[in-house]
Amino acid sequence: ELAGTTELLLSRIRDVPDYPEPGVMFKDITPLLADPEAFAALTEAFAALAVRYGATKIVGLEARGFILGAPVALRAGLGFIPVRKAGKLPGATLGQSYDLEYGSAEIEVHAEDLAADDRVMVVDDVLATGGTAEASLRLIRRAGAQVAGVAVLMELGFLGGRAKLETTLEGAPLDAL
Ligand code: AMP
Repeated sequence: ELAGTTELLLSRIRDVPDYPEPGVMFKDITPLLADPEAFAALTEAFAALAVRYGATKIVGLEARGFILGAPVALRAGLGFIPVRKAGKLPGATLGQSYDLEYGSAEIEVHAEDLAADDRVMVVDDVLATGGTAEASLRLIRRAGAQVAGVAVLMELGFLGGRAKLETTLEGAPLDAL
C-alpha cells in the first residue's frame, strides 16, 4: 500500500530537462496536482507525518509548498503559515537571507503567526541544496517556535541538502515521500 502510493506519486512527476536553465532536471508536480487521486494520496501521506511529528502548525514554502501544505494543514486540523519571498507579507515580519549559487535570496514570515509552544512542520515539493529549507528552520527558531520536522515530496540526494540541514535540524526528522 505504501509502495503503491510511492509508485503513484512518482508516475505523476514529470522530469523536464534543462529547465529553467541548461543542466537542471526540473521536477514538475503539475501532473500530480491535476490528478485528484494522487494529490489526495500525497496529502494523506504528509498529514500522517504531521501526526507522527506532533506538529501544531504547517509552514509552506513559496510557492509550491503553499499548494502542497495548505491541504495538509486542513486535513490534519492545523493552522497554515506561508513563508514568502521578501516583500510580500504586509504585517510585521522576520526575515532570513540565504546564499544561492549566484547571489542571495530572502524569505519572510509573519512573526505573530508562530508562538513559543508551536511545533512546526515545514512542507515543500523538492529539497535540492537545502538552502531554502535551512533558512525556514532558522526563521521558525528565531520566531521562538520549535521545529517538528521537514517533509518534502522529493529529495534530490546528489545535491546534499540532507547533509546541509543536519546541524540546523537539531535532531528533528527530515522525510522525503
Ligand atoms: P534548495 O533551496 O536548493 O533546496 O531549492 C529548493 C527550492 O527550489 C524548492 O522550493 C523547490 O521547489 C525548488 N527546486 C530546486 N530544484 C528543483 C528541481 N530540480 N525541480 C523542481 N524544483 C526545484
